[in-house]
Amino acid sequence: MSNPRQVPPHGAAKRRFGQNFLVDPGILARIVKAARLTSGERVIEIGPGRGALTRELIHSGAEIWAVEIDRDLQADLANEFAEEEGFHLVGGDILQTRLADITTAPFKVVGNLPYNISTVILERLISERELFTDAVLMFQREVADRILARENTPDRGFLSVIAQAAFEITKGFDIGPGAFRPQPKIWSSVVRLIPKEQNIFDRVEVRELVSKGFSQRRKMLRNNLTGLVGQASGIDLSRRAESLSLDEWQALAENAERL
Ligand code: SAM
Repeated sequence: MSNPRQVPPHGAAKRRFGQNFLVDPGILARIVKAARLTSGERVIEIGPGRGALTRELIHSGAEIWAVEIDRDLQADLANEFAEEEGFHLVGGDILQTRLADITTAPFKVVGNLPYNISTVILERLISERELFTDAVLMFQREVADRILARENTPDRGFLSVIAQAAFEITKGFDIGPGAFRPQPKIWSSVVRLIPKEQNIFDRVEVRELVSKGFSQRRKMLRNNLTGLVGQASGIDLSRRAESLSLDEWQALAENAERL
C-alpha cells in the first residue's frame, strides 16, 4: 500500500518526460541573465515543468508562452500562474507544435530541455530559426560538447556541422547534478544559439551528404561518399569527415555530383 505522506507535493518526476527539475536559485538567475530579456519581450519556454525557470522569466518582465506536455504539471502551472498576465500555458508536445502557432515572431526561446528529445528539438529549432532572435537552452553536457565541437576534435559530427551551419553558438556554463531534483547522473550545459540566415545546409540532400560523410568515422570521405562527390571542390577526399570546417563542407556540397 502506498503511503500518501511519501508523495512529494507535485507528484513524482516522470522519467519518460525527461523530468529533472532545477532547484538552484543561482543557476536559474544565470539562465535568465543569459537570455538578456527586456520588458514585454515574447519568450517561448520549452518544458516549464514545475515553473522554477518560468517564475524567473516572468519576473524579468517578459511575456511567456510555456509549452508543457505533462497534464499533471499543466494543471499545477495553470494554478500557480493564474494571476500572471504575462503567462500563457500551451499544453502539448513541443515536437507536434509549430513555433509560429504559439505566438507572434520574433521571440526568444528558453528551456531546460528534456534530455531524451533534446537533439530532435534542436533539429526543429534549426528548421524554424527565422522566427526567433536567440535561444538559451540547457542540454546534457555531452550533447552541448557535440554541438560546439570544432573540426579535428573527437566530438565533431553531423550535429556539430548542422548546428553550426544554422547558428552562431556560444557556451554559457556547466551545471552539476546537484542543481536538479531528481539528480541526473550527468552534467548539463547552457548554450546560446543565434540564428543564421537560411543556407545550403537547409537542403535535405546536403544534410544527407554530411550524415553520410560521418557514417563511418574512421573511413576517408572518398569511401563514405562514393559516387556523390568528385575532385571539383578542391577538398582532399582522403581526409576524414571530422577534419572538415563548415566552409569545406559547403565547398563539398556546392560541387557534389548527385545532389
Ligand atoms: N523547466 C523545468 C526546470 O528547469 O525545472 C523543467 C525541465 S525538465 C528537464 C523538462 C520538462 O519538459 C519537463 O517538465 C517535461 O515534462 C517537459 N517535456 C518533456 N517532453 C516534452 C515535450 N515533448 N513537449 C513539451 N514539454 C515536454
